[in-house]
Amino acid sequence: MFNIDKAYIDGSFVTPKGSETADLYNPSTEEKIGTVRLGGLEDAREAIAAAKRAFPAFSLTTKVERIEMLKRLNAAVAAHTSDLTQAMALEYGAPQTFTRFAIPHAASSFLSMAKVLEDYDFERQMGRARVVMQSVGVTAAITPWNSNIGFITSKLATAIAAGTTIVIKPSEMSAIQTQILTECLHEAGLPKGVFNIVNGLGNVVGAELSRHPDIAKVTFTGSTAVGREIMRNAAGTFKRVTLELGGKGPNIILDDADLDAAIPAVLRMGFINSGQACIAGTRILVPSHRLDDVLARLKQEIETFKVGAPDDPDAMIGPMVSRKQYERVQSYIELGMREGASLLAGGLGRPAGLERGWFTKPTIFTDVNNQMRIAREEIFGPVLSVISYRDEDEAVAIANDTPYGLQAYLHGTNVARMQAIADRLECGRVVINGAPHEPLAPFGGFKQSGIGREYGVFGLEAFLEPRAVIA
Ligand code: NAD
Repeated sequence: MFNIDKAYIDGSFVTPKGSETADLYNPSTEEKIGTVRLGGLEDAREAIAAAKRAFPAFSLTTKVERIEMLKRLNAAVAAHTSDLTQAMALEYGAPQTFTRFAIPHAASSFLSMAKVLEDYDFERQMGRARVVMQSVGVTAAITPWNSNIGFITSKLATAIAAGTTIVIKPSEMSAIQTQILTECLHEAGLPKGVFNIVNGLGNVVGAELSRHPDIAKVTFTGSTAVGREIMRNAAGTFKRVTLELGGKGPNIILDDADLDAAIPAVLRMGFINSGQACIAGTRILVPSHRLDDVLARLKQEIETFKVGAPDDPDAMIGPMVSRKQYERVQSYIELGMREGASLLAGGLGRPAGLERGWFTKPTIFTDVNNQMRIAREEIFGPVLSVISYRDEDEAVAIANDTPYGLQAYLHGTNVARMQAIADRLECGRVVINGAPHEPLAPFGGFKQSGIGREYGVFGLEAFLEPRAVIA
């Protein structure tokens, strides 16, 4: 049994003043595996005060010093890849296909930011003005459970690069992963107060961070509903906000696509992170004259997406994180059937042979139109909808007919044509033929997928304020 009973404030592991606890579960077995003691308002305020004390000195550190710290943070996290992987498997149920990418990516986010920093000029001349990019002030980061370690490291990396101090409130459902990660980060030996980590409930610690006058900026990854609430709370003191919210990504198969290559890629993008991903390509758009062939191939290919616990090296889809998330996904499958969509694969209940654990069947609906709720709302599980289109213009129109605008996927053979289509899509990122993640490129959403960008220079500048000095 894990007993997570410390917050990390001012460079030390301390017992939170808050005394409420929450249970922690292994989603692959449904067993309780521990408890976390939740921070309260006082803990949030102490963490903010520590970050505020550390800010003046930290904001004056040089680029060379910050790059050095980022390298130390990278080394400390990379040295514990195996412990972090085990924690993510146990507490989140992530399959090995995901942790093999996710943990090294989390460690490397420090090096990616170090690279950005190396090439970045904090001062530039604009006409008569000397423009200085200055640290924004004490920042709060609020993160979700679906890639806990990576969200903490990428937000922390950007804060360090920008010379801001930070208070991080991770999802209370990720407390074991957070504890191990915090021990790694502590090993890097940063000045005390530069980063502080407090577990707690969203409407307690998260809300306090979103409205506290000493917080200058909130960087949030999570649901669109909570993003809206944070923005409201932040408005009181005009905090800068970066909001990385939900998605309903179009996964567009073009008429010239080589289906042997495209179909596996379409499903990989749809089922990424067991479908618990804002970037999942959950609306599969198919040219109507190729629909029969595509459906037959999807039905065959989905059989290769094995569902299982993280100790099964062949599993590509793990359990849903919680009973609540399992039930949510089930309710959307039920809704799809009620709305008149047809099941091509999957459906209600657990996959055969997995009676315990919050495992859900990878599911594909056909006969879906883009107005159905299963095509408009973020399900956050392995449930995909196939929607057919007549021509390229209609594909673009359907792709853009959504309140979201995070990440889209194009599958085809003519890259120049796909570049042109990409320019018509209302979203923050377009991935052509399953291209790998690019950490130097901006990430974030149009419309209700969020505000602002993370990663690269855009991510760094979201932690900075420009000041013009005109002589
Ligand atoms: P969530 O929005 O419920 O919670 C996210 C975080 O916000 C948690 O730490 C939670 O405690 C905190 N929170 C809750 N209420 C709060 C409040 N009133 N004030 C301040 N903080 C509060 O999201 P979740 O269920 O943890 O994660 C799933 C969601 O995250 C999905 O909607 C998904 O699309 C989104 N997500 C977005 C991205 C992205 O980069 N765009 C990435 C991953 C996940």
